Amino acid sequence: GTAGGEFDHLFKVLLIGDSGVGKSSLLLRFTSDTFDDLSPTIGVDFKLKMMSLQGKRLKLTIWDTAGQERFRTLTSSYYRGAQGVILVYDVTRRATFTNLSDIWLKEVERYSTNEDCIKMLIGNKVDLEESERVVTKKEGIAFARQHGCLFLEASAKTSINVQRCFDELVQKILDTP
Ligand code: GDP
Repeated sequence: GTAGGEFDHLFKVLLIGDSGVGKSSLLLRFTSDTFDDLSPTIGVDFKLKMMSLQGKRLKLTIWDTAGQERFRTLTSSYYRGAQGVILVYDVTRRATFTNLSDIWLKEVERYSTNEDCIKMLIGNKVDLEESERVVTKKEGIAFARQHGCLFLEASAKTSINVQRCFDELVQKILDTP
């Protein structure tokens, strides 16, 4: 048929990380190709995005935490059935990087029901001045290697690497038997 709603695969992808790292902004950039500097919390629950890769039509449901991460109340239902997780930190705030191993990765391990869940690490806000950066690219690479994550530095503001992040994540999900 020709209905727009048809697809070959349906994937659930989660955005996690500390409040303010840019999760909602990355989602908005990816799904609507826009950036809104005025909204610190956009507060979406999830967005749908159709993609095609290698002749396959993919439907992504991408879940944002809508500010709940502030209260550390993400529950098992949020993680259930996810094929991919995007762990986001802000390259200008050290605590957002250290919390990945202290909090967020632990949660993924505890709640994710999918053994093969693919992890993508994103160092966001690389558009900011180099003098504001506190987490080096080298540290990001090392962390990703240690924890078996894909890795990219990105900017929701300028859109650098945002499309690529989702492309590489979904590619890896497709390649995982
Ligand atoms: P969330 O709480 O993780 O969803 O973060 P938000 O998407 O709400 O972003 C928090 C703040 O950081 C907002 O003021 C955004 O405008 C800003 N922000 C998000 N991404 C970027 C980026 O790539 N570069 C810069 N300079 N600011 C960003």
